[in-house]
Amino acid sequence: MKICVYLGSREGNDPRFVEATEALGRAIASRGWGLVYGGARNGLMGRLADACLAGGGEVIGVIPEHLVQREVSHPSVTRLIRVDSMHERKAAMAAHADAFVALPGGIGTLEELFEIWTWRYLALHAKPLGVLNTADFYTPLLTFLDTTVEHGFLDRRTRETLIADEQIESLLDRLARVHAEAAL
Ligand code: AMP
Repeated sequence: MKICVYLGSREGNDPRFVEATEALGRAIASRGWGLVYGGARNGLMGRLADACLAGGGEVIGVIPEHLVQREVSHPSVTRLIRVDSMHERKAAMAAHADAFVALPGGIGTLEELFEIWTWRYLALHAKPLGVLNTADFYTPLLTFLDTTVEHGFLDRRTRETLIADEQIESLLDRLARVHAEAAL
């Protein structure tokens, strides 16, 4: 199984974000899964790729040409796919992955998570997706999403397709379960 991870191009200011990112990279490798991510060396993105590679995992990075310099493409991923635009980046990441996870990050991370979630909502794919809620980072967003349900803008079934978990192993297990059910 290949898992696409969206996460910050910065490290944030809580050491638990880096710890969780590296633990996720190791967990993906130790399960024999592959990682798909944005291909950069900076921030949590680089930490994730390094940890997965160190554990012997396969890492596919997808980076647009204009960000190769700015975000600094990772020099030792298993495969670096260079694309021409942000749209191609997201499409390539989605095509290569069986499931999606957001770790802490900024507006880029949120944009990627919401796009892949809305694609699922529109039945363009049936792949599982979730957030790793390290240090309650996503709790305010999850609460806001419940508010959108309460106000009639989002149906509860769609809301529940976003899996949230604080524990890496249980998050990966839940994604794998939904993936297996979708394949039936
Ligand atoms: P951030 O969460 O803002 O640190 O960004 C995380 C990653 O998302 C970085 O590699 C950004 O280049 C990327 N990103 C930002 N905006 C977009 C977008 N509209 N489409 C695809 N990737 C994006």
